[in-house]
Amino acid sequence: MRWMLLYVFLFFILFSNCKSANEVDTIVHNGVVYTVNEQFATAQALAVSDGKIVAVGMNDEIISKYKAKETIDAKGQAVYPGFIDAHAHFVGYGQSLFQVDLFGATSWDEIVERVQKFAKEHHDEAWIRGRGWDQNKWPGKAYPTNEKLNELFPDKAVLLTRVDGHAAIVNQKLLALAGVKPGQTLTGGEVETKDGKLTGVLIDNAVDLVTAKIPASTIDDYVKWLTAAQNNCFAVGLTTVTDCGLMYNDVQTIDGLQKEGKINMRMYIMLSDDSTNYKRYLNDGPFKTDKIYVKGIKVYADGALGSRGACLLQPYADKPGWFGFLLSNKSHFDSVADVLVKTDFQMCTHAIGDSANREMLQIYNRVLNGKNDKRWRIEHAQVINQNDFNLFGKASVVPSVQPTHATSDMYWAEERLGPERMKGAYSYKQLLQQNGWLPLGTDFPVEDISPFKTFLAAVVRKDEKGFPDKGFQKENALTREEAIKGMTIWAAKAGFLEKEVGSVEVGKKADFIILDKDLMKVEEKDILNTKVVSTFIGGKKVYNR
Ligand SMILES: [Zn+2]
Repeated sequence: MRWMLLYVFLFFILFSNCKSANEVDTIVHNGVVYTVNEQFATAQALAVSDGKIVAVGMNDEIISKYKAKETIDAKGQAVYPGFIDAHAHFVGYGQSLFQVDLFGATSWDEIVERVQKFAKEHHDEAWIRGRGWDQNKWPGKAYPTNEKLNELFPDKAVLLTRVDGHAAIVNQKLLALAGVKPGQTLTGGEVETKDGKLTGVLIDNAVDLVTAKIPASTIDDYVKWLTAAQNNCFAVGLTTVTDCGLMYNDVQTIDGLQKEGKINMRMYIMLSDDSTNYKRYLNDGPFKTDKIYVKGIKVYADGALGSRGACLLQPYADKPGWFGFLLSNKSHFDSVADVLVKTDFQMCTHAIGDSANREMLQIYNRVLNGKNDKRWRIEHAQVINQNDFNLFGKASVVPSVQPTHATSDMYWAEERLGPERMKGAYSYKQLLQQNGWLPLGTDFPVEDISPFKTFLAAVVRKDEKGFPDKGFQKENALTREEAIKGMTIWAAKAGFLEKEVGSVEVGKKADFIILDKDLMKVEEKDILNTKVVSTFIGGKKVYNR
């Protein structure tokens, strides 16, 4: 009898451990499945087992062949690969969700109101931090003073940074905490005083006096930031994001949280151009787990066009004699390229102006020396001289672009550049033609996280208000198919992840989304009304509407 029991027991163990070949975890059927494979073919159903796609095909085919624990009826709706953002700041976005958004405020009173509202909704924040005020947008254009902040927040530190990060206004509580005194002087900075009293305004290096007191980020902070960030991302169909410029300790923390199952977002990571990161990673090479791939190095060539920090070949149209500037000596970029070309790391350089782009393209071409598969990237590739477009193709350099930058900047970019240079600005079609593929992103939190806005800007070249009527520089619009590829398989390829994600194909990770409208067919006016019904990462549902 005892032997008998043992046999039954063994039989049970064997059976429960070996799923038969046709048993799967999930079947999704009755959909319009955009596989985004080589042929851009569609299917009706897919089967998922152990987090991977094991079959894609017609309804009958999948349903008759497989037995699933869970069957999902897509109700005729569109199924796409999960969206991938090829250029974003995921950690920064998470942090920004716990700070007051002060951008666009048109008076100091409005700033104070926004801070009060934020404080009510975020009782447990130890500090109140905000970013984005600009006194040039207010009547009188004078710097504010901190009396109202002192009245409202006698016991909590308040730090509100100006739009450009070069000034801040803080309350008395924080001034006291940092030991700032009236009349205090320091090099490269200014402590504002009026009638012998501190106004709370700190300029340049004086801001460091108070930021030095910001409590160090804890694991709980990261959990809070990244949970909020990923939930918003899942709701708009993002399943992989690229974080452009993190430090070694950020990566360690994220890795730990992913392994504990606290964070589900898949990430491609570029490390900041910083000696700590080089020391830790250059010898060991790229770092990879199921959820993160650390293989990029983020370098800054120049600043932004809006603040005239972008480096141009000819002076700005609206500032005679001013060219902008590079953020480092050419020798720095040369030496980074010379070091990285001998490693498996991908060099990813922020370049906005046509001079910055030319400088970097020449360096890339020098070290890469012809076509290759190192996929070195130019982030933004915003203004390109007509003579330089071919430098992308020559050395297989990847332009990584953000279509919503075009529709945000179109209101003022021509003032900076003049009509002639505009033709080579935000020229996504022309950039796509260089290598035949083009990754798309948003640069969130600089722009909205929404891939639907990216799609609209790429395909229709209009912003969410429907401006301009006929689309901005329409000759540089992408087709719908190109835009979808840019947000999926090409974005995966830009991070060497195209064998794992970016399409609905057998062997890939089961990252996919169901949409209530089909982006390939939806009318232009309804693109932004498209909603994500559900989002899956590795076959697990991470969002349900
Ligand atoms: Zn960025």
